[in-house]
Order: sequence, then structure tokens, then C-alpha cells
Amino acid sequence: MTHYDALVIGAGPAGIAAAIELSLAGWEVLLIDKAGFPRGKVCGGFVGPENKAILAEYGLLDALERRGAKYVTHLQISAANNISVRVPIYFNGRPDYGLGISRSAMDELLLAKALDIGVNFEGGITAQHMVHRGGHSTFTLVGRDGRAPAEASATHVIYANGGAVKGKSPASRLYGASCLFDSIGDSGADVIMHFLDQGHAGINRFEDGSVNVCYVIKDALFRRFKGDFDQVWRHMLGANRNLYRQMKNARPLTRWHGTFVDMDRPLRFFDGHAFYTGDASAVIHPVAGGGITLALSGGILLGSLLGRHHPEDVFRAAEAEAYAKAFRRRFAWPLRASRMIGAAGHTAPVANSVIRLLKWREAHLHQLFDIFHQPAVLQA
Ligand SMILES: Cc1cc2nc3c(=O)[nH]c(=O)nc-3n(C[C@H](O)[C@H](O)[C@H](O)COP(=O)(O)OP(=O)(O)OC[C@H]3O[C@@H](n4cnc5c(N)ncnc54)[C@H](O)[C@@H]3O)c2cc1C
Repeated sequence: MTHYDALVIGAGPAGIAAAIELSLAGWEVLLIDKAGFPRGKVCGGFVGPENKAILAEYGLLDALERRGAKYVTHLQISAANNISVRVPIYFNGRPDYGLGISRSAMDELLLAKALDIGVNFEGGITAQHMVHRGGHSTFTLVGRDGRAPAEASATHVIYANGGAVKGKSPASRLYGASCLFDSIGDSGADVIMHFLDQGHAGINRFEDGSVNVCYVIKDALFRRFKGDFDQVWRHMLGANRNLYRQMKNARPLTRWHGTFVDMDRPLRFFDGHAFYTGDASAVIHPVAGGGITLALSGGILLGSLLGRHHPEDVFRAAEAEAYAKAFRRRFAWPLRASRMIGAAGHTAPVANSVIRLLKWREAHLHQLFDIFHQPAVLQA
């Protein structure tokens, strides 16, 4: 049976960042993902400006730019009542820029970095029959490709398997879907959010020139259209004129792909046997455009905290506490604020008034940037 110092389940930004930090600390890490790579992910693909420092530290900023990541310099938002605002992307009190890139390209580059520094990776695999005993976890690695299942063990287990869970309460359940389109005319280097009752649509350009459209809707709207993505989309086009104008000549290049998001899941950092990071630990409302930041920051924080120790050390409760504390210090308020803004944005009369106010008081939008786009690296 192969033994690893750590098993990381899920190769999104959180799992990859945790695996990189542990591997840099000299740990033997197995990173697995149930999907084969490269894999897509329902996401707006807006990488906030605060992440550039992390990506540069990993030597990936140039690689992302060479891959064609788009500079995103402005945010446009519009309300169902036709009012719209356009502001520069702010970071650290100054105009800055984020990136527009598909998650298949970004996560593939992150994964290449992890492989480069010695992380072991298996795609198309899940860990089953997990048993925690005597300070070790044993499990069976089961592949989708018919390979014989293999027994393995690890001293530490990290769940970084994302937030795609159907929540129990319909009130807290969101549904996200994305689709690539060929073009939307000239919208500059902007990330765009169009609000309407019970949802919003985000538009962002990707590295190959395609336009990613990603919508997030409440469960009630999803059920009203019986989960039919195209019908939901037609409804959205009819509910926001700016969205309609922008998309009317655009042709879809792919089908819609969807996922559930449960906004009611409690924060989770450690369950006595395993650590949690990224969306598996805390889900920020997609309206904030900060999930990638939370994932990279959480993964780095957890990996660097654990990596300070010898892999066989028993230190989990104290580390879990330090991890949770540093995480809460940075993300408790953005998590709460994202829910408030998500709720306001998905209630048309409120969104109409708020966006009208923002048009005259742009400074409030800068304050929102300050909440969601703070420096990404966390100190324990
Ligand atoms: C509609 C929508 C739009 C969004 N737009 C943005 C945006 O523009 N900008 C932004 O910053 N954030 C955005 N987010 C949030 C962002 O996508 C997530 O916060 C981010 O992907 C979380 O990263 P992660 O590594 O925690 O999880 P993920 O990126 O979800 O990665 C989890 C990985 O775990 C794997 N996995 C799951 N279960 C298992 C298992 N049992 N075994 C093995 N592997 C498993 C999955 O295949 C996946 O690869 C958006 C979210 C949604 C829903």
C-alpha cells in the first residue's frame, strides 16, 4: 500500500494551492480529482486583481498572459430598470485590473506548477471507503477508466472538493450555469453583470476570444422553468434590456453547463480527521467574484500552516484553530457582505434602487471592491 503524507481531494485552485505549499515544505502529496484534466468548471472566470501577486509568486502570471488571459479593467453593472454603471476595477485604492480566463486553462496551469514541484496527481479518480484509525487514513482509489482499485493511506486528508452541493433549504439554494458565446460586440475590457429579479448574468471574455456567460439564479426561478437552461436564459434576456442588447446577435458555442450552490452550508475547517479548504470550507456568493481568491488564499494558508510541521506530527487541533482564525479574520466579513449583496441584487426593486444610487455615488462601488478584493495572501 502506498503511503502519502497528505491526500488532497479536489484539484481546483484551493486543492492545488494546498498541495503546492505542502510539497514545497517537503511533504509527499497525492492530489486527486474525480474529473480528468483539463476540466471545465461553471465559473465567471473573473480572476480578481489581488490574485496576481499569488500567480506571480508561482511564476504563472506570465504564463496566463501568454495563454491569452484578457485584462479586465472595468466593471459594468445594469439593473432590470435599464440603469447601468461602469467603473474601473479598484484594488488597494487605485484602478487596477483583473483577468478573464477559462477555468480549464487556469486550473491546468496551476496543476502544471504543482506537478513541476513534485505533487503526485491522479485525475478521473475518487477516494472511497475512507477509514481514519491510529493517526492515519486508509482509502481505496477508484478510477473511472476501469483500472483496478488501489489501496493507499495518508497521514493528513484535505477536502478541497468544491461547493457543488444541492442545499437542503430551497431558500438558500442557488443555481449557476455557464455557456460560451462567439462575440458580443464591443464591450471593452469589461466584466459585466446584469441583474434581474431572482438572479443575475455575468459576462467575461476568455483567452480564446470567446465570451463566457454565466448566470446565477435562485432555486424558485430554476424550478419555474423546470431546470431548462435555455428557457431560463430566454427569460433573463426578456427581463433586462441591457443584457438583451448585448447578447442579441451572439451565437452559443457550447451547451449550458450547470451546478447547484448551497449558500447555507456552515463554515467547515476541520472535522476531527480531515481539513477543508476553498468552497468545501466556505462558499462566497458568486456575485462577489471572489471565490477564486478565497480558494487560493485558503489553500495556501492551510498548506503553509501544516507544512511548518513534520508530516507525522500530531498537531491537528491547534493548527485547525490557527487556520480557522486567520481565515475568519480575512473572510468573515466578505462572506457575510456577499450574501447581503447577493440577496439585494436578486430582488429587482432593491437592485434597481441600489444601482441608481451607485450611478451617482461611484465611491460606494470602490468600497465594495475594498471588501471583496483585499490582498489575497493570509498570515496565520
Ligand atoms: C456560477 C458561478 C460563477 C462564479 N464566478 C466566479 C468568478 O468569476 N470569479 C471568482 O473568483 N469566483 C467565481 N465563482 C466561485 C469559484 O468558481 C469557486 O469559488 C472556486 O472554483 C472554488 O475553488 P475550489 O478549489 O474550492 O473548488 P472547485 O474549483 O470547485 O474545485 C473542486 C474540484 O474538486 C473535484 N471534486 C469534487 N468532488 C470530488 C471527489 N469526491 N473526489 C475527487 N474530486 C472531487 C471537482 O472535480 C473539482 O475539480 C463562481 C461560482 C459560480 C457557481
